[in-house]
Amino acid sequence: MTVISGPSAVGKGTLVKRLQENFPQVWVSVSVTSRAPREGEIDGVHYHFVSEREFDELIAGDGLLEWAQVHGAARYGTPAQPVFQARDAGRKVILEIDLQGARQIRKHLPGARFVFVNPPSWQALLERLARRATESNAEIERRLATAKGELAAAGEFEHSIVNDDLDTALAQLVDLIGLQR
Ligand code: 5GP
Repeated sequence: MTVISGPSAVGKGTLVKRLQENFPQVWVSVSVTSRAPREGEIDGVHYHFVSEREFDELIAGDGLLEWAQVHGAARYGTPAQPVFQARDAGRKVILEIDLQGARQIRKHLPGARFVFVNPPSWQALLERLARRATESNAEIERRLATAKGELAAAGEFEHSIVNDDLDTALAQLVDLIGLQR
């Protein structure tokens, strides 16, 4: 199992998507979230979109491997059962989750591999967030505040890659996970 974390807009999603497209043995967990879908997001593909009440029920039923409230707003969590199924089927399991979630996984599944994705610079991260323009200003401010905290905790991760050139970062990730190119 590989846990991939890093600040918002650092390009984790693109890296994970590329892994998924190129390596059939890779299985990427689909998280549940209580946030509303963004335009173009499909339920069951990008996330399982649930109500706050459904999220409470998942927690109460021990259905989540980890969960966290991210950016002081919505909750996100990893459904446990599909992860164990994929692992037992011999797939390379990838969790793209935030720092709080990574810490919980470290506690429960210490054998996992932890990878932090860094931006080339703070300025580059600001530009990427601004370019995304899917978020309101208040939302961007919140994400920047979270990003500061996440970058400060990068040292907790065994592995660290810099997402400057996408192909280079992808190659590093492929080697870390032990995939055959
Ligand atoms: P977004 O709202 O942009 O899709 O995701 C916001 C943040 O939530 C990202 O930093 C992402 O890593 C994190 N996240 C997504 N799914 C999960 C999850 O299942 N658990 C945790 N702890 N964080 C998640």
